[in-house]
Amino acid sequence: MARPRTTLTVQRTEQLTPHLIRVHFGGPGFSAFEPSEFSDSYVKFIFPRDGIDVLRTYTVRALDAAAGELAVDFVYHGDEGIAGPWAASVQPGETIDAFGPGGAYSPRADADWHLLAGDEAALPAIATALEAMDATARGRAFIEVSGPEDELTLTAPAGVEVTWLHRGTRATGELLAESVRNAPWDDGQVQVFIHGEAKSVMHDLRRYIRRERNVPAEWAASISGYWRRGRTEEGFRAWKADLAAQEKAEPARGQLIQLAPSPDRHR
Ligand SMILES: Cc1cc2nc3c(=O)[nH]c(=O)nc-3n(C[C@H](O)[C@H](O)[C@H](O)COP(=O)(O)OP(=O)(O)OC[C@H]3O[C@@H](n4cnc5c(N)ncnc54)[C@H](O)[C@@H]3O)c2cc1C
Repeated sequence: MARPRTTLTVQRTEQLTPHLIRVHFGGPGFSAFEPSEFSDSYVKFIFPRDGIDVLRTYTVRALDAAAGELAVDFVYHGDEGIAGPWAASVQPGETIDAFGPGGAYSPRADADWHLLAGDEAALPAIATALEAMDATARGRAFIEVSGPEDELTLTAPAGVEVTWLHRGTRATGELLAESVRNAPWDDGQVQVFIHGEAKSVMHDLRRYIRRERNVPAEWAASISGYWRRGRTEEGFRAWKADLAAQEKAEPARGQLIQLAPSPDRHR
């Protein structure tokens, strides 16, 4: 079924960190927005460009139905791209249309522990998931950002250890993959949520979780790229399709993708 289209009005913007801009949306169109039950709820903003609707995918960081507002945190990754620069210059009163929301993951109360990992693009979804957990939840969250000035204060259960990783001049995702691999692995059933730069997530961490740690698909369905270095969102969709085709062609990995169709779940 087609996802509903909503017209949202920008209420105000906030510079949360040097690389993260929060945009608060509301306006008359908000009443048509149907919230999702999932903590990784996301929308696809529609940017008209040369007669074509260009879509950009973003997590709903917070939704306040009473106030008629939702907040989205945009990574500002420089002057390239459409959505990042838009968030940096948008003014209150401007409108934008969005499809959605979609979503698929929420932290399960029956998990013995949680493993969450991601970069700045996944930080809004990780922050929302931590807030949605039971107070008794246990686990580890790894968040890779550029440097200490990009850290945020998060609300998390006391039993979930949050580790901030500063990549400095390293490529996005390298330190994240290393840190998750080197972290202690607890006993009991883990639920996994890992998103961010696609190559590090799909080639390094998904393999580690699914094949080396043998976490079944039911508990590790939410592992996928949110963006791909050197590619726009359109180019990234083509990369995901190629990866899925390659994995299908290769029997052992094809089995993996059948069990976990995460590469394409955010189409
Ligand atoms: C389900 C889902 C939820 C997401 N939630 C969020 C969210 O809440 N906040 C958020 O900021 N992003 C989020 N993303 C990622 C976002 O959709 C992409 O980063 C998108 O490419 C940004 O669009 P753009 O127009 O700014 O850049 P594009 O035009 O798509 O890309 C232009 C260039 O910028 C690079 N680039 C794109 N994103 C990044 C980045 N994060 N860091 C460094 N370089 C980048 C590309 O590789 C390309 O070279 C989410 C993605 C998915 C699939």
